Amino acid sequence: MDKLATVEQISKSILRVLALNPGPFTLQGTNTYVVGNGPRRTLIDTGDGAKPEYLALLRQSLGSSRIDQILLTHWHLDHIGGLSKMLSDSSLTTSDCRTFKNRSPTVDGQQSVTEALAVAVGNNRLFDIRDAQEFCLDGVKIKAVFTPGHTEDHMAFTVDEGGGPMLVTGDLILGQGTTIVHDLAPYMDSLQRVLGIRPSALLPGHGPVIRGTGDAVKVIEGYISHRNLRERQILAVLDRRTAGSRRAWSVAEITTEVYSDITDPNIILAAQNNVTLHLQKLLAEDRVVRVGVDDSLWALRGTAASI
Ligand SMILES: [Zn+2]
Repeated sequence: MDKLATVEQISKSILRVLALNPGPFTLQGTNTYVVGNGPRRTLIDTGDGAKPEYLALLRQSLGSSRIDQILLTHWHLDHIGGLSKMLSDSSLTTSDCRTFKNRSPTVDGQQSVTEALAVAVGNNRLFDIRDAQEFCLDGVKIKAVFTPGHTEDHMAFTVDEGGGPMLVTGDLILGQGTTIVHDLAPYMDSLQRVLGIRPSALLPGHGPVIRGTGDAVKVIEGYISHRNLRERQILAVLDRRTAGSRRAWSVAEITTEVYSDITDPNIILAAQNNVTLHLQKLLAEDRVVRVGVDDSLWALRGTAASI
């Protein structure tokens, strides 16, 4: 894994500043993006706010300019945790800096999220984001793309400097590995949506930038085909027959069949989670049913599955 520079000029108006919060879920840390070249800038995501060194890095990168609007991709604390500190620091933000987040009563009601948003709310400077909303500052056009699935409030943003839309992906797509998904059906729709944009680059919430439309499209298609392959494998297990008839399967049994090469118990748990996500999507699509005494088994719809 290549080591990311803590600060890197990504394009003529986008600077990536690493939030210095490496970890098992954040890879080398959360990427935050400063957009614009003028005295007032946009910041996309704030890191977790735990490292003063990150704020120092951001301050240094801004020089005499200040952040005048902050766009948040989603509620996870490694993306919004730094917000209050930034809004309370006049060496980073303007006094009327606005914060934009797709407001969701379910996730925003969590205590940690309420706390992270408290200063913005207290200043009366927290605003909702709707799909396709535009945020123009300093001549750079930024546009929101509603992309739920990783979380229900997730927003990606396109940034267009005239060379085609670059996509700030949040945690919809990572620079390496695959992301954690909360709800698979909307997640797959979100991938199709951003594929339709044909971005000229992917600027992920974690990991390196993916440059060029060809590679960006390849990565998005890779995410889609990986999930589709898993779905086909799960359906194939459910379709297996013993003495001519199909039977019902538990999540653990399906996981053992589909991920036969995995032995690490933690990874098996993650794999079972994935299988459950797929089954819930298939259930919503009416392609599988829950059976058994406590609905703990799964079978293809319309089959005489026996337990
Ligand atoms: Zn996240």
